[in-house]
Parts: sequence; C-alpha cells; structure tokens
Amino acid sequence: MAEVLVYVDHVDGAVRKPTLELLTLARRVGEPVAVALGAGAEATAAVLAEHGAVKVLTADAPEFTDYLVVPKVDALQAAYDAVSPAAVLVPSSAEGKEIAARLAVRIGSGIITDAIDLEAGDEGPVATQAAFAASFTTKSRVSKGTPVITVKPNSAPVEAAPAAGAVEALAVTFGALATGTKVVSRTPRESTGRPELTEAAIVVSGGRGVNGAENFHLIEDLADSLGAAVGASRAAVDAGWYPHTNQVGQTGKSVSPQLYIATGISGAIQHRAGMQTSKTIVAINKDAEAPIFDLVDYGVVGDLFEVVPQLTGEIKARKG
Ligand code: FAD
Repeated sequence: MAEVLVYVDHVDGAVRKPTLELLTLARRVGEPVAVALGAGAEATAAVLAEHGAVKVLTADAPEFTDYLVVPKVDALQAAYDAVSPAAVLVPSSAEGKEIAARLAVRIGSGIITDAIDLEAGDEGPVATQAAFAASFTTKSRVSKGTPVITVKPNSAPVEAAPAAGAVEALAVTFGALATGTKVVSRTPRESTGRPELTEAAIVVSGGRGVNGAENFHLIEDLADSLGAAVGASRAAVDAGWYPHTNQVGQTGKSVSPQLYIATGISGAIQHRAGMQTSKTIVAINKDAEAPIFDLVDYGVVGDLFEVVPQLTGEIKARKG
C-alpha cells in the first residue's frame, strides 16, 4: 500500500487534534507516515501510533524554533525524498498552509487547500472543498505531481487504529533560505482555558445583538457550560467588544465545529463564509426574518438576553 506523509502539528510533544484527524483521512488513501519536527518530536510517536501511523520520522534542531517555516519545509522535503509518498497531508493552519504551498512549489506538484473531506479515487486522492461561502462543495484531485493537501480542523473523526509507529530519525540538510527569517521573540497568548477557536468541537459566537463588551460574559458563560470556544462577528469585533483573534468569517477565522451557536448575528455572507461548514448550526435572534435562519438546523426567535441565560442554566442543571 502506498505511503502518505502526514505533517504533525504538536506543542512540545503534545499532538494537536487536527493531526489525529489527518491520520484518519490518510488511512483512507494509504499508510500514514508521520513527520514530527522540533522539541518533543519523539514524544509524539506513541499517540501517532495509536491513531494509525506506521512510521514516525522525527528531527530536532534549533532551526525549527529559531526560524520561520523554511526549515520545516526542508525537513518535510527530506521526508518526501525518503518516502516517495502517494500524497502529503498538512493541517490547514496558517503555518500549515505556508509549509504545504512551499513544498508543492519545490516538488512541482499541485496543491489543494482547506479540504473538508478526502477519499481514495482511481487516479489519486479526491478532496472536497467548500466554495462560495460554503454554498457549494467541490471535489477535486491533483493532476500534476504528488498531491499536497491541507485539511481543515474538524473534517474527520479521531479514530483509534493501532499501528507500529516505528520511530526513525530523519536526516535534514537545511538550505540557504532556512535561516533567512529569524524569530526574535514569542509572546504566549493569555490562556482563557477554552479550546482553540478553529479546532473547537463547539463554538458559541456573539454579534452586534450582544450590544456591548460588558454583555459578552453571557456568551462566555454559555460557551463554558458546553466546553466551547467563543467567536464573534465582525460587527462585535469592530465595535471593540471582543478581540479580532476571535472573529469568525471571511476576514476572520474559518471554523467547522460539530455545533455552532450564533447569538445576535444576522448571518451576512461574510460571516457565513467562516462557519457555514459547521455540522449543526443553531441561531438565537429576535428577528424571525434574519438571514441566519435560512441556514440553521435549529432556530430560536427570541431576545438573547432572556434565551442565553436560560440555556446556560439548563445545560448546567443537566450536567449537575
Ligand atoms: P448585524 O448584521 O447588525 O446583526 C445583528 C443581529 O442581532 C440582527 O439580526 C438582530 O436582529 C440581532 N439582535 C439584536 N438584538 C438582539 C437581541 N437582544 N437578541 C437576539 N438577537 C438580537 N462579518 C463577519 O462576521 N466576519 C467577517 O469576517 C466579515 N468580513 C467582512 C469582509 C468584508 C470585505 C465586508 C464588506 C464585510 C465583512 N463582514 C464580516 C461584515 C458583515 O458584512 C456584517 O456586517 C457583519 O457580519 C454583521 O455582524 P452582525 O451579524 O453581528 O450584526
């Protein structure tokens, strides 16, 4: 069976969920060979093996932390040269997309970004993407070179699939460009204790209807009762009620959770562009004619200041 390279997103050896989802998809098209780089790379092997990695190629060097993406591209290319894979899968983070694009240029391949599904096809992997603010889905395959495909978080389930996961050291030679852009400082974001917006299984978002920063605790309380991330419409962000890092939409982040709850959000096309691939969509809006109701699975016509606290209270009560 052909091997499929999976680029591992991890923090000091803790593998992030989108990588485990990639392993599920990789097993549909071949045997996953994981590539883990940087500090803690070897520590990723056990969990990668549990989820189907037949092999884990690891490399650690100061270049991976001291410089931006090029050293990682050098390493992924070394893995590509060593394995000659049938496809290369990379998580659709900002960094992942840059790594994938650079690799595709180097190996002369076509690239598909932001896939939301992947299946085996007669002529290679077939990727599904959402197009036109997710009003349509398209299926495509790379017809030139080895397919390089980035996949959005929450596009596949995490599945246990024990495999050998044999760790092998990857020999990497850094090119002249690797040290071109040096990281001068890193500032960790203050932790809210909530899941990362693009990876969260549940997202609760607030819009202009929340009517002030001082009311966003209602959205946060609902999110916390569900273990969810908090999102915001651009109107709420532009008004300074919530940080831009939490904006969902065309000029914000694109999310695809199992459950998206939009409160006080009208459903403008630019907002939809960032959330329409969510599996189940719920809206709370006092205007029964709001366009958001055209795309919801469940809609509540009501005042969010009444509905949201009731909902939060009910969820907390049921959890005991
Ligand atoms: P509104 O459209 O004002 O809707 C507020 C809603 O709240 C209304 O439906 C109202 O009925 C409801 N409401 C009010 N009070 C209550 C209450 N008490 N209880 C319940 N419901 C209530 N927008 C994004 O979100 N993300 C983007 O990334 C983005 N990118 C953009 C890029 C471009 C180039 C442009 C031009 C626009 C972009 N926008 C984006 C803006 C977008 O067009 C809308 O203006 C924005 O999404 C509106 O936000 P909203 O739904 O919160 O506000």
